[in-house]
Amino acid sequence: MKRACVIGWPVAHSRSPVIHRYWLKLHGLDGAYEMEAVRPEEIDGFLRSLGKRGYAGANVTLPHKEAALAAAEQPDEAATTIGAANTLWLDAKGLLHASNTDAYGFMTHLAAEAPDWNKSKRPVVLGAGGAVRAILHGLVEDGASKILLANRTEGRAKALAEGFGAQVSVIPWEDRNRALAGCGLLVNATSLGMTGKPPLEIDLAALPADTTVADIVYSPLETPLLAAAKARGNRTVDGLGMLLHQAVPGFERWFGVRPTVTPELRAHVAAHLGAL
Ligand code: NAP
Repeated sequence: MKRACVIGWPVAHSRSPVIHRYWLKLHGLDGAYEMEAVRPEEIDGFLRSLGKRGYAGANVTLPHKEAALAAAEQPDEAATTIGAANTLWLDAKGLLHASNTDAYGFMTHLAAEAPDWNKSKRPVVLGAGGAVRAILHGLVEDGASKILLANRTEGRAKALAEGFGAQVSVIPWEDRNRALAGCGLLVNATSLGMTGKPPLEIDLAALPADTTVADIVYSPLETPLLAAAKARGNRTVDGLGMLLHQAVPGFERWFGVRPTVTPELRAHVAAHLGAL
């Protein structure tokens, strides 16, 4: 039986088992997807013994994504550029490979939901947390030549932008409303709008009618930002699709079948999240 797991500390909140177990059942595979709570001081040893523990690979969540990259013998370009890994697999020689599939997840969902988003205007990205480097990497790979980045703590945004050179410019958090005038894609990658958090404070008055608005928060599925954007006629892209699509490459590596993101999977995971 092939086995994979998600490694985190804590790990109980992870939605990955819901996604991978759905696909295992759907495809009738003899496989298992488990949860491994691993303390930070034990992560290096755990990753070194992944194969001995019977795993073909793993997803990695907070706070171990940087340690996962450091442990990998064969990190791919996405993991190296993003500086963190969320997907690991062992090859036939036992070498540990690492990838970061968050950029793939974000861009694949964006392409599916808003294939003609206005690339002639610059994207505006809000936030500087763990997911933002992946989103910036995805947008740059897709050809974006000028991205505006705003975060409450400007220093965090500046540190992130340094890795991208002239393609990413940091603007003050207070200027986010004004920046919307020339924006083709607005991405909320802060935790604002999440259940239990205040909504993102933003005035969409200057946002062009053809701008796509994406939120990576997936609980609730329709955040206050997405509701406001939809009400004024902008196209919206929710955060759940990113979560589902980022899981695809790992499942294929471990279990040998490329799964698809379907409305049935979305409904299954959304029901688990209580996000509908
Ligand atoms: P994080 O590292 O904790 O970063 C939180 C971000 O939100 C920071 O930029 C922070 O700004 C900002 N923020 C928090 N409170 C704020 C406030 N009151 N005013 C202004 N800014 C505020 O979080 P993360 O890991 O990047 O995740 C962010 C969100 O994305 C979470 O809701 C998470 O669930 C979601 N997410 C979704 C996916 C997906 O697959 N859809 C993947 C990853 C994350 P400061 O720097 O100033 O603190």
